[in-house]
Amino acid sequence: GISETGWNFDNSYARLPQSLFTLCNPTSVRSPKLIILNESLAAALGLQVQSLRSPDGEASLVGNQIPDGALPLAQAYAGHQFGHFNRLGDGRAILLGEQLTPQGSRVDIQLKGPGRTPYSRGGDGRAAVGPMLREFIISEAMHGLGIPTTRSLAVMATGQTVIREKDLPGAVLTRVAASHIRVGTFQYIANWGTVDELRALADYTVQRHDPNVYEEGNRYLSLLQEVIKRQAELIAKWQLVGFIHGVMNTDNMTISGETIDYGPCAFMDEYNPATVFSSIDSQGRYAYGNQPRIAAWNLARLAESLLPLLHDDEDEAVKLAENAIAGFGTRYQAHWLAGMRAKLGIHNEEPQDESLIDKLLELMEKHRADYTNTFRALSLDNPEETVMFGTSEFKEWHEQWQARLGRQQEPITSSRELMRVSNPAVIPRNHLVEEALEAAVEEEDYSVMKQLIEVLASPFDYSVNQDKYCSLPQTSIGRYRTYCGT
Ligand code: AMP
Ligand code: MG
Ligand code: MG
Repeated sequence: GISETGWNFDNSYARLPQSLFTLCNPTSVRSPKLIILNESLAAALGLQVQSLRSPDGEASLVGNQIPDGALPLAQAYAGHQFGHFNRLGDGRAILLGEQLTPQGSRVDIQLKGPGRTPYSRGGDGRAAVGPMLREFIISEAMHGLGIPTTRSLAVMATGQTVIREKDLPGAVLTRVAASHIRVGTFQYIANWGTVDELRALADYTVQRHDPNVYEEGNRYLSLLQEVIKRQAELIAKWQLVGFIHGVMNTDNMTISGETIDYGPCAFMDEYNPATVFSSIDSQGRYAYGNQPRIAAWNLARLAESLLPLLHDDEDEAVKLAENAIAGFGTRYQAHWLAGMRAKLGIHNEEPQDESLIDKLLELMEKHRADYTNTFRALSLDNPEETVMFGTSEFKEWHEQWQARLGRQQEPITSSRELMRVSNPAVIPRNHLVEEALEAAVEEEDYSVMKQLIEVLASPFDYSVNQDKYCSLPQTSIGRYRTYCGT
């Protein structure tokens, strides 16, 4: 039944083979306090905002109280972390259950930072306010940009200290996701489970994310292909807005095609494919320009895990898997190219479009032009002059581009409209996020953050205060890196 707050849980994951999870409750905290509640998301989930803001409602958002119908558990999974295979699991996350929404969808409700679980290993199972608010801001910004992502319902302060390099205030984030099934979930069961358990997970996943292919001849191959399709589209969207995930380990790649796990991620400023944004990624494995290749590598690990289900004959299974993986690059490239055409206001297709795009990117790299602001400026009638815009090589490119726009039926006004919905005016630049987090963590002043979140909800609104939200940082993120593990 539906609770007074609107909780309407089912617990289908708990009906899977037991090796996939461990039932486990959150650990209570002393003095919880709500920092931020996503009211529009709450409403979409069928939750009553007033009731969530009551002491009982808040208690359920921090793990002090289990809402009716929830069955808390920690999920088991594995993962290639920077290429090294490890047995993992929810070490600092607990799934409350699946909320059945008024629109008829099923979404995971997960607490992040609710205390130790059987998968915590040496960790404390806790999270700090700063990183949880960072996930809130960036995941909601991604949603605003139209990029599939887990969502953030709330951040609660625990009133307790977490011990990191220095003492930090603790927090619990409520994360909402299509599911938390990862590439690493399949790796886990393929390595430590039976084929029957693997099949049970695969059948469940197909029913949950691709019910339309359930009756197909080879539903497991179809599942693999659907995940490849979703990830090709997702990674293209990342590349098109300059998003760097930072930790594309296989445990941080979903089967649903949603972006997950906002640790040391960032939006690129100066265009440079080698941009890295994680202090622990010294090799540049997860650099911006590597993301499509890494996605294909991760998907190959998914394909490997599914091999026993793809065909009775191992060689045949490998062939099917290899063919499927080979399709990623073409799909990715098609999404990327379509997206880039839109960013340049191009409606139709010409074979030379790719070289026109490459030439622009080459100039941007050479002149260290800001990625977002360059496309934003191209979308404006009277853009500000930049160093790059003043060069003769750019003027030459600009002429070619204008000529290209002339070779389509649509008028220039419609190109501009296409560009305005394809090139965000505002992104969660790191210095903006850091400024908001500093006020939140140091001063408990959440107004800067809330204002930023509001602006980021409409990133294609060109009437945004440009001086405030579009100006560049003093130091490029290429030379400034966040630290994860907090
Ligand atoms: P991540 O880097 O966030 O993808 O996490 C990698 C693994 O480390 C996952 O299994 C997490 O559950 C686990 N982990 C991260 N932080 C903690 C923590 N504070 N306590 C316990 N486990 C953690
Ligand atoms: Mg993770
Ligand atoms: Mg993380």
